[in-house]
Amino acid sequence: MPIQYFFPTCIYRSALLKRGTQACTEELNAACQQVRQGDEAGQLWCTEHYAGGYTSYGTLRNLHRTSLPFKQLETNVWPHVQRFADRLDMDLSEANLAMIDCWVNIMGEGAAHPWHAHPSAVLSGTFYVATPHGSSPLQFQDPRLTHFDGTPPQRVVCRPPNRRQVSYEARAGDLILFESWLRHQVPAQASDEVRVSISFNYAWV
Ligand code: FE
Repeated sequence: MPIQYFFPTCIYRSALLKRGTQACTEELNAACQQVRQGDEAGQLWCTEHYAGGYTSYGTLRNLHRTSLPFKQLETNVWPHVQRFADRLDMDLSEANLAMIDCWVNIMGEGAAHPWHAHPSAVLSGTFYVATPHGSSPLQFQDPRLTHFDGTPPQRVVCRPPNRRQVSYEARAGDLILFESWLRHQVPAQASDEVRVSISFNYAWV
């Protein structure tokens, strides 16, 4: 078929580490629980705005600067970010990418994170710390979605690059990176055990 693909939307997924995944996720899981326990203001905010879950996004968003396990996570994520930026052909000769935000998400049953993007950043990502059976996936939406007025519906089964929405299963030990303008959501957590992840933003500094 004489067709080439242009303007791709790239999503990066990889195991964070080649070995030592369990020790890493266990240490970070304990660190995440500690963050929640010590963050009364965040807990209060979440009872009103984040039913069934806890996020430190509004209160403790600099964890890579204030806590060793998160600083170590930043170090481990960095080669992946470099690889992804290189694959996107980003020219980083004038400035570099740096982690500007790092926060915790603990989602209990029913907790959901509606569609959004991270407009202040260049690259964003999530590392999965605890993903009990039935944990919600991370879903991404075709960034051209507002341009399809008048086009026919798609076949139920279509080629992966033609999908309007894709779903990434949450797997402890895995890292997902994407460009920050890409809209994403986490549907309601179906498991009665908590899904724990750490998210971050990178800016061009
Ligand atoms: Fe997000």
